[in-house]
Amino acid sequence: MATRSKLVAGNWKMHGGLMQNQDLLKEIIAGTVGLREVHIAVCVPYPYLSQAQLLLQDTHVYWGAQNVSYYAQGAYTGEVSAAMLVDFRCRYVIVGHSERRASYGEDSATVALKFNAAQAAGLTPILCVGETLAQRESAVTEQVVAEQLDAVIESEGINALAKSVIAYEPVWAIGTGKTATPAQAQDVHAFIRDRIAAHDLEVAASLKILYGGSVKANNAQELFGMPDIDGGLIGGASLIANEFITICRAAKN
Ligand code: PEP
Repeated sequence: MATRSKLVAGNWKMHGGLMQNQDLLKEIIAGTVGLREVHIAVCVPYPYLSQAQLLLQDTHVYWGAQNVSYYAQGAYTGEVSAAMLVDFRCRYVIVGHSERRASYGEDSATVALKFNAAQAAGLTPILCVGETLAQRESAVTEQVVAEQLDAVIESEGINALAKSVIAYEPVWAIGTGKTATPAQAQDVHAFIRDRIAAHDLEVAASLKILYGGSVKANNAQELFGMPDIDGGLIGGASLIANEFITICRAAKN
C-alpha cells in the first residue's frame, strides 16, 4: 500500500495585505521548520505571488494561486494564465473551489479546462469537490461529488489525477464553523478513492485527498487521523499563524 505524505494548504481567499502577509509568512516558516514529513503550502491572491515567492523560496513552504484561466493568452481582461503562475514559481493552484462554482458560474466542464491548463503548465491542481447542505439533506452527496470528479476523469484521463490533489470540501462546512465529523468526511473520502480505484488502483492509492471546511487547530488532528484524509485545505484558520501552524503539526503522522 502506498504511504501518502500529508499536505496542508492554506487558502487565503481575498484576504491579506503586504505588511500582514509578511508577518504571517515569517511566522509560518519559523513555526513549521523541521516538520519535514508534512507538505505545507499557501494559496495567496495573485498580487501577492511575488511577495510569496520572495519570502518562501529557499524554505520548506510552497505557494500557489486560487484560480487560473483556461486560456493560454489573449484578450481576456482580468484573467491570469497558468504560465503566469509558473513565472512566479507557483507549485499549486486551486481549481473548482465552491465559491467560484457558486459565485462565478464555474461548472464542472469549466473546472476540467482549468485543471488541464494548470497541469499542462506544470502546476499541481488542487481540485475541489463537495456538496451543498441541500444536496446532503437530499442524500445526493455521492452523485454530486461523482459528477464533479468524473468531469475531470473523462476529459483528462485517470493518469492526470496522479499529478493532482483532490480537496473534498462540503459547501455547508466552508467558512461556517460547522465541520464535517471525521466519520462523515472519511465516508466521502473513501467514496472518492474507491471511484478512482475503479479506474486505477495505483492512482487511487497514491492520490492525496484533502478535507476542507472549518478545519481549526482544535479539530485537525482527529480529521487527519482518518485513513483516507491526507491533510487539509484551510481557509479562515490559514490567516492566523498559530492556528495554521498547529494544523500543520496535527498533520504529522
Ligand atoms: C476553503 O475556503 O477552502 C475553506 C475550507 O474555508 P474554511 O476553512 O474557512 O471553512
